[in-house]
Amino acid sequence: MESTALYYQESGKTNPLGISLALMAGLAAASVLGFVYAYATFYIPIIYFNFLLTYFFGFSIGYAVGKVGSLGKVRNGRMLLLTAIGLGVIGVYFAWVFWIAAASEGGLWSFNLSTVWLFVQLIAMEGAWSIFGFTPTGGTLYLVWLAEAAIILFGVVTAVSAGRGSKPYCESCDQWLSAKHLTERVKGIANPIGFRKEMESKNYEALKNLPEADPAARNRTSVQLMSCSGCNNQHYLTIDKIERSVDSDGKVKEETTRVLENLKLDRLAYQDILDWGKKF
Ligand SMILES: [Zn+2]
Repeated sequence: MESTALYYQESGKTNPLGISLALMAGLAAASVLGFVYAYATFYIPIIYFNFLLTYFFGFSIGYAVGKVGSLGKVRNGRMLLLTAIGLGVIGVYFAWVFWIAAASEGGLWSFNLSTVWLFVQLIAMEGAWSIFGFTPTGGTLYLVWLAEAAIILFGVVTAVSAGRGSKPYCESCDQWLSAKHLTERVKGIANPIGFRKEMESKNYEALKNLPEADPAARNRTSVQLMSCSGCNNQHYLTIDKIERSVDSDGKVKEETTRVLENLKLDRLAYQDILDWGKKF
């Protein structure tokens, strides 16, 4: 039976090869970057830099799992997310192993859980670093470590979907759909919620009536069509709102907000919007 959903819904299907590859990629990121992260935070004591490093350590693990999982044709976001969180925890553990090795100049070196835990307790009594002449120990230090682990896991969670991308999958042809970037040369959408409703009720004029905009306009709309190159039977539309602003230093910043993602189109509507896009 054909699904009546308005938007693409992933099948949840997965395969052992895809999951194994995602696991290996995440494990590689957790170990190699765990090493880099531990040594960098030990030798470069700049709080702001370390904070970013903590987040990007987690982000890289999540991104690797998402990206490789998608290359391995895994259509199950929840499973990839759980895999990535598990590897994030392993990443935190690796970071501890390597940090202890760095702090002891290679003298203390163990992957054994109870040995690592013993070292952690000893470090908590002594303190690991000082800030403004204050050396946190005990409960305070455990809280800092807990926050650090939370930032790493937050990085992991935010990265998985970024790594996966948002393209739909064609189950009949066993492939991801290919995307056609149609245009960015139409004006911004004034009322995204109303616009979404119009599009969902197949009133595509809402899109086609958007006036043409200069490529450098402050508000633009990005229109992306996707279709299956195998069967030409699956069509989707994704629309983003792009707002450009210039800050006080004269730096141009662009902010993208998703208005709709993977709205299902029939072949006729797909062709119609494709033809409309050709005039830009
Ligand atoms: Zn197909």
